Amino acid sequence: MSENSHETVSVDFTVGIGDESFQAKAVVPAGQCNLTQLLPVIQAIEDSFIAEVTAQISEAGLHVSCKAGCGACCRQMVPLSIFEAEALTNWIRSLPEERQQELAQRFHQALLKLAAGGLIERMVTEDWLAETESARKLVLDYFYQRVPCPFLEDESCSIHSIRPLICREYLVSSSPEHCADPAKLQVAPIRLPLNFSRILNAVGAMVEDDSRGWIPLVFLFAWMKSGAHPGDAISGTGPAVLYEFVKCMSEAKPRGTTDS
Ligand code: SF4
Repeated sequence: MSENSHETVSVDFTVGIGDESFQAKAVVPAGQCNLTQLLPVIQAIEDSFIAEVTAQISEAGLHVSCKAGCGACCRQMVPLSIFEAEALTNWIRSLPEERQQELAQRFHQALLKLAAGGLIERMVTEDWLAETESARKLVLDYFYQRVPCPFLEDESCSIHSIRPLICREYLVSSSPEHCADPAKLQVAPIRLPLNFSRILNAVGAMVEDDSRGWIPLVFLFAWMKSGAHPGDAISGTGPAVLYEFVKCMSEAKPRGTTDS
């Protein structure tokens, strides 16, 4: 590492999203880093993007009903980008051995329950994020196994500050009790014009052959054994790595648009 490795630089940028634009400021390392190491910056940018969107919709009378202590949605399948998998791997390995064992046991129990429900093979072979009837059925079948996310403790996220992008993006304006049974179609999700999680997944699919760019979060401990370091595929100075991500944001189609 260079002696300047702790120096940072402030970057201002604007991203066009359909007819709208989003202005952001980020503080990134001045020296070398990779995409996984830049995740805290991307999380902070997404948090301010979500804050801006939710402020806009609240002017229109819609309010986010999600609150701390409500973990109803934390029984859904969570697609985790491979960069976030790498960051969580580094974080887990920094924990005391006893805590690592506790988490490993929770992930194991979750997999056992999913296997008993006959879901593991479908999770491996089907694209959960596809907008197809079979993907929707798989998502519901997973939910009705009622397997809590292994990071859920006392109905709160135990990794809240470093939780995956997709968890930050899942917001509803409907009453929390509706989240306990999504099949009744009473959940009113708040649609963000852009999902950073999907952008990271797409970058992951680009840098890793034969990969969707994401894994089911519940597979994290199995993935950790691969020793993969996908973040290294996109490395450079902090501004250069951020530029690569922002470029992908600009190229992403806003939600609700289709190819002409
Ligand atoms: S990571 Fe946290 S917010 Fe996301 S599903 Fe798990 S417990 Fe819930």
